[in-house]
Amino acid sequence: MRTSANTTIGVDVGGTRIRVARISTEGALLDRVIEPVCQDPGGFVPQLLRLVDRMRDGATAIGIGIPGRVDGRTQKILSAGYLDIAGLDLAAEVRRATGLPVRVENDATMALIAEGFSRTGGRDGLIFMVTIGTGIGGAALLDGQPWYGGGLSGQFGHIVVSSGGPLCKCGRRGCVETFSSGTALGRLMAEAGMPKDIRAEDVLSRAKAGDGQARVLLDVWAAPLQRALQSLVSMADPKLILVGGGLGHEMSAALAHLADESHWFTVPVEPARLGDTAGVIGAGLAAFGIASEMTGQIR
Ligand SMILES: [Zn+2]
Repeated sequence: MRTSANTTIGVDVGGTRIRVARISTEGALLDRVIEPVCQDPGGFVPQLLRLVDRMRDGATAIGIGIPGRVDGRTQKILSAGYLDIAGLDLAAEVRRATGLPVRVENDATMALIAEGFSRTGGRDGLIFMVTIGTGIGGAALLDGQPWYGGGLSGQFGHIVVSSGGPLCKCGRRGCVETFSSGTALGRLMAEAGMPKDIRAEDVLSRAKAGDGQARVLLDVWAAPLQRALQSLVSMADPKLILVGGGLGHEMSAALAHLADESHWFTVPVEPARLGDTAGVIGAGLAAFGIASEMTGQIR
């Protein structure tokens, strides 16, 4: 029988929803609640605290994944996409309100912690993750622990793959996010004259069934990401690159279909496994204290 003393609370703030769950040391999801996220900064923290309170039941720490740039060393939120909470000391606010230790990370880092935890060999060596959603996120895990570089490494969506591409929110042109994100896929589908209600998974099904237009579209969508991942391999030679996020399955399939144009930089890519629960599970695991838990509590 598991006691509540060995549980934490994971919080995953997503594009549209906030997930809060109670997580065991084994990474099991014991209880959870999901709501549309309050995008008004004045309402966001009260919402988070209310949901955390519902999951509390003796939990010992809280991990929070934020969609945006979070300095992994200082836990400072530099930007959070659609959520206007840049500069908010979220860890301190939640700590003050709950009395519990709090850890804030980028959401892709949280997802990668869970994916690494769930895999044989997932705590050894260097593993990268790219998350394909509205934008493209990224994270790095080195021997089971997040690797931040100076604090902000892992923003793989901003690897430039074309000198003359679309303007990116980071101020440059041609970032891979502008070509291979969910937003970019929507643009490609509209340009191809596909119906508005068609989903990415439908395009993949069509391509698998031999539809030439769908196949070309997926190739055009995935090829810039393949180049970006090859650049990552040329730089850091990770043993594995996981592809996750809401469109991770579709992107993995699209990448698998592309010919490997480089003899030097073969990309060791695999689809993420945990789907949209990875972020909240990773947040709970991070709260246990990654250094001790990821080496001592593994199945
Ligand atoms: Zn950029």
